[in-house]
Amino acid sequence: MEKKDIFAQIHDMETHMGDLHQELGALKYVVKELLEENQRLRMENQRLRQLLHQEHQDQQPESPVAAEGASAPAADALNPEGEEQENVVGEGYDNLARLYHEGFHICNVYYGHLRTEGDCLFCLSFLNK
Ligand SMILES: [Zn+2]
Repeated sequence: MEKKDIFAQIHDMETHMGDLHQELGALKYVVKELLEENQRLRMENQRLRQLLHQEHQDQQPESPVAAEGASAPAADALNPEGEEQENVVGEGYDNLARLYHEGFHICNVYYGHLRTEGDCLFCLSFLNK
């Protein structure tokens, strides 16, 4: 093989590698977008399920509660509105913490985006509030 051919071959390989590198970068971007979209859809799905569940419960006839007698009102007394509100807030916090640990931003700067560079100070300060 002549030296000239070798250099031509190396040059070809270099070009090829450059193309591959670019392609890899583009694919990485697509995967990131898909993961973010997937997370958004999962959250939306969860929210819709909750709404559906709530609506379903709202539509339930009152009779089963009445049939159970005094137990249901007693449970209500144990769980006054204020406490219920607190539970909802706690649940929201848990969801956000889970989202963060699954690798997504929960800060208002990059919310819903994939954390590609480790911990985010904005998110952490939000979690520590
Ligand atoms: Zn963040």
